[in-house]
Amino acid sequence: MADALLEARDLAALNARHEGGSSLRLIRELLEENRSARICAVSGFGAGSAVLLHLVSRIDPGLPVLFVDTGKLFPATHRHRAELVEALGLRDVRTVSADAGAIARGNSGGALWMRDRDACCDLRKVEPFRAAVSDFDIWISGRKRYQGAGRETLPLFEADGPRLKVNPLAFWTGGDIDVYCAAFSLPRHELLAQGYRSIGCEPCTTPVREGEDERAGRWRGLTKSECGIHIPQTPPIAAEGSAS
Ligand code: SF4
Repeated sequence: MADALLEARDLAALNARHEGGSSLRLIRELLEENRSARICAVSGFGAGSAVLLHLVSRIDPGLPVLFVDTGKLFPATHRHRAELVEALGLRDVRTVSADAGAIARGNSGGALWMRDRDACCDLRKVEPFRAAVSDFDIWISGRKRYQGAGRETLPLFEADGPRLKVNPLAFWTGGDIDVYCAAFSLPRHELLAQGYRSIGCEPCTTPVREGEDERAGRWRGLTKSECGIHIPQTPPIAAEGSAS
């Protein structure tokens, strides 16, 4: 592959180049410098998703956006998705889901999320997502350091197996998100008004209290803090010889 970013394999240089800069410029340069790469964004259409999707839409509203529908999302999330797709003119949002047979087998002993949440996330989120993202060389996520729960040292660019993963909002704060959404009059997820600040599946998401990390309401009371799609795949791209 002739694209500069994937050939460079210099994640440290990429991170230094863009840290604290314009996230819009980062995404624009990523797309311009990797025209032959297959690039997608990934969004759960949750509490803070509007910013990344708006940035993407300002550059290329036809960029594929992967949306993992676990079948356990809040109805409000589906409404927010429809609202954002309409408002931003997103043209290629792809719903990714486990097949019905796999879910039926997983639930054969009762609701899987009640018995084994790691297995449920693997079935409903991680496996379908990994299959879908395997069609791409680069994926863009909306994670931020301020969200806590292990994201405090999130880089802008990181390796994810053979793929490059980009987190253009890594250095944004919650205040930045609010200011940006207000400046562009972006639709907000309706559950924000009920105290939800990170919004995943309905059975595994609760509102957060004052002073808690944004993701404290996810899998509350459990040691689990991520569904698994953000656990880096191995080997990292920097250890491989070529991305082509
Ligand atoms: S967040 Fe909960 S309901 Fe959703 S896939 Fe994971 S365990 Fe299942």
